Amino acid sequence: MAFFIPEEKIAEIKDACNIVDVVGETVLLKKAGKNYQGLCPFHAEKTPSFTVSPDKQMFYCFGCGEGGNVFTFLMKQQGMSFPETVKYLADRTGVVLPEQGQTREQKRRSSEREAIFELNKRTMGLYRKTLRRDPRGQTAQQYLEQRKFQNEIIDQFQLGYAPAGWDNLTRYFQRKGVPLALAERAGLVTRRRQGQGYYDRFRERIIFPIRDNRGRVIAFGGRVLDESLPKYLNSPETEIYQKSRSLYGLDIAKSHCRAAERVYIVEGYFDVMALHQNGLRNAVGTLGTALTRDHVRLLRGHIGQSGRAILVFDSDAAGVKAAHRSIAIFAREFVDARILVLPPGHDPDTYMAEFGPEPFLAKASEAKGVMPFLIDAAIERHGLSMEGRIKVLKDVAAPMATFDDPVARSVYIKYLAEKVDIDEAAILEKIRQAAAKPSRDSVVGHSITPKPSLHTPAKLSGGSGIERQLVAMMLQFPDILPEVRKQDIVSLIKDPQLKAIGLEILQNEAAAIPSDSYLESQSGDALRRLKAQLSLKEDVWEYQGCLRLINQFVLTKKRQAAGSLDERIKQAEKDHDEEGLQQLLVEKMRQVDQIRKNERKQIIKKGVD
Ligand SMILES: [Zn+2]
Repeated sequence: MAFFIPEEKIAEIKDACNIVDVVGETVLLKKAGKNYQGLCPFHAEKTPSFTVSPDKQMFYCFGCGEGGNVFTFLMKQQGMSFPETVKYLADRTGVVLPEQGQTREQKRRSSEREAIFELNKRTMGLYRKTLRRDPRGQTAQQYLEQRKFQNEIIDQFQLGYAPAGWDNLTRYFQRKGVPLALAERAGLVTRRRQGQGYYDRFRERIIFPIRDNRGRVIAFGGRVLDESLPKYLNSPETEIYQKSRSLYGLDIAKSHCRAAERVYIVEGYFDVMALHQNGLRNAVGTLGTALTRDHVRLLRGHIGQSGRAILVFDSDAAGVKAAHRSIAIFAREFVDARILVLPPGHDPDTYMAEFGPEPFLAKASEAKGVMPFLIDAAIERHGLSMEGRIKVLKDVAAPMATFDDPVARSVYIKYLAEKVDIDEAAILEKIRQAAAKPSRDSVVGHSITPKPSLHTPAKLSGGSGIERQLVAMMLQFPDILPEVRKQDIVSLIKDPQLKAIGLEILQNEAAAIPSDSYLESQSGDALRRLKAQLSLKEDVWEYQGCLRLINQFVLTKKRQAAGSLDERIKQAEKDHDEEGLQQLLVEKMRQVDQIRKNERKQIIKKGVD
């Protein structure tokens, strides 16, 4: 399929944006030599092997082998389509894209997403106006005041109000000519079960716009003003909203998370707002869903490898439940997670209102790690009688088994052994048993994500070392390309992936296209990764060294050809094929001659260098 955006536009966008900035928005990067390093957003790791090269404008993970350019990064990490990444980066860099050429489906999808963003923005505006300037919003305004929220924070989080009535928003859309089917796909209105037409999803509720990383409204939450149920109502998942990837307040919190290398994770909208209002601006909310691996990776990108996540709960029971649910994720993503439980009867919102930030911060600094928290909670629950200690061990064996890190595991075993006075070896045995069981049984109410093997080595291509070396050279040292062409090196490369990359480089060079064009994202995942890997291979190239590499390669190939010639000679002898044998022997003599000549040349060259 032909692509609708001209290559030169892609190149223009690439020239105008810096991959380090784009990646740096979601992955905390630190300078390491001429490159930048951070924790890979595509696999779990505790020491950074994710590398971004500003020179080559590429990224590569030496842990999992993921790699590519700025477009592929956004596609992988944000789940954007290629046209979307182009559009996003074009907007960012101010490159103007031509309109025509998109396929109908591409146009429909991207315009649908844009239309939903736009509709959400207008809806947010309408709800805000109702809260601040409409008499119908007065009760809600009073409610917020009574909960001690200041206008400044209400404005920052763009709170609004959906008044009573079934069709305020529906009628507004009708007046403005907004298709109601679109509003339905945006999750703003619902089709009537009986009869025709639609009605508003949110009625008589305070409205919390849920925004993405970049501050665009992707969904809404609504809270009632009294005790009626459901207390909270959220938008359904839509084309632009996935619960498992969204965190409330992240657009405001992210820069503060980076500065503090710490994030507070709370549950509700008001909890997030209360922390922000009290100066703890590095707080985000999970909005009722359990913390997912995507959430944790998203946050890890902001707090970095030495960062800490503090989960705040309003009771021990809630903390224990959540700790059981999420310990596997934290253990495998190598995030230092702590559990902070507030005094009985308090959530972060009411706690802040009553005590302010200082005691909260003091508690946070003493917050226990997830595993010690679970051990202490189990001891609290079962006591230290003989039966109690056995129950404690039973409770914590499974969560302990989720730690692949032997150091962490042995630290916790020691901690538990001391607390319950059970032999370390016995504990280890219990953990082994728990690890052997299917994870679903071992952790109550939570299915653990499939266990990734630690230290997955990057998948290497089957090509020989020298073939990889040659293609890396072609990628990194274009001066050598005329020689590569002259000696027809690419045709001698055996590995199909390496050959494909080699051909692409030569083609692009001939067409004067930057070697790292869009073609690479069409040429398949494995190829793209291999190319990124070879591009970032740390090598210093100079012309003479490259020539030697080429000659050595040609020589090896000729030797191999000679080898196969020997086979054919043997076969001809066996078959008594006199005529064939004669020809082969002549060929053989010529080859031996050639190899000798080449070898002599090599020796002379080495002498000169
Ligand atoms: Zn990785």
